[in-house]
Amino acid sequence: PFDVLIVGSGPAGASAAVYAARKGLRTGLVADRFGGQVMDTAGIENFISIRETEGPRLSAQLEAHVRDYEVEIIAGQRAKELFPAASPGAMHGIALESGAILHSRTVILATGAHWRQLGVPGEETYRTKGVAYCPHCDGPFYKGKRVAVAGGGNSGVEAAIDLAGIVGHVTLLQRGSKLKADRVLQDKLRSLPNVTVLTEALTTRIEGDGSKVTGLTYRGGDGQDHSLALDGVFVQIGLLPNTDWLRGTLSLNAFGEIEIDDHGATSAPGVFAAGDATTTPYKQIVIAVGEGAKSALSAFDYLIRLPTG
Ligand code: FAD
Repeated sequence: PFDVLIVGSGPAGASAAVYAARKGLRTGLVADRFGGQVMDTAGIENFISIRETEGPRLSAQLEAHVRDYEVEIIAGQRAKELFPAASPGAMHGIALESGAILHSRTVILATGAHWRQLGVPGEETYRTKGVAYCPHCDGPFYKGKRVAVAGGGNSGVEAAIDLAGIVGHVTLLQRGSKLKADRVLQDKLRSLPNVTVLTEALTTRIEGDGSKVTGLTYRGGDGQDHSLALDGVFVQIGLLPNTDWLRGTLSLNAFGEIEIDDHGATSAPGVFAAGDATTTPYKQIVIAVGEGAKSALSAFDYLIRLPTG
């Protein structure tokens, strides 16, 4: 059995593994894919102290750092069920999709999240070539350019306000007849000179020249197709935590995020969580890495307080 079993090998899980192993804890890492979302990222310029890197490169460095330590890597596996310990100090169980069950005194869940996709032609082709999901990450790449934001909820409107301060022009497309964002955000958005808001605008296709985005097509309220010339499209229709398998076992919020306290503790004693899968605000690599470290230190703290015997 493990002292700490970490599920997920993105930035949060990798960081938790290094911190746990450095405490001398018997550490396991269920790793279906090192790097997680970082593997899907082209340029990264906001992981502080690394001025510029690429997703696959940073993912390889995360893996190499973990492999410097005595971490048992359970590779190519996914967890499908958590069985929390019946009493403090008893073992938690993690069932893998392979059918195996792993036991550990503490568990750290770092299964991350994924962006909901529009599911239109061109989105996959031009992902990271003009199709973006994270304004904090990719906004500065579009300085002075023309972009669209698809999605009129809070995240779409926040993204449009954020981008308007960086790019040349923002068009926000909302498929329904009204924006769903909070009124104060809508008012702020409409006060900006370089933003156009289109309602009843359903994005149907992302256009490109084979190497990058050149625009998009949307179906308007008039039933006609319209096109926009653009350098980028930010898709903002939801970030979905990879937590379906935990429903009914742990407290999740309305978005499905694992509820944690300021130590990364979940509703089950001895089970911690970190990164994009949790209620922690702002989903970023630097934050996931910090939260992963915190969860491992919390697991250590929990272990040294268990009664001996
Ligand atoms: P993830 O990176 O999502 O990793 C979770 C891992 O757990 C994945 O490998 C997943 O496959 C695995 N997993 C899921 N379910 C299970 C299961 N049941 N069992 C086992 N494993 C499981 N952030 C920045 O700071 N800067 C950027 O420039 C930037 N650009 C981005 C660009 C794109 C296209 C995307 C999608 C995200 C970007 N982000 C960026 C956000 C950043 O990647 C995330 O905030 C960060 O990766 C979160 O780390 P995490 O470890 O919590 O989760």
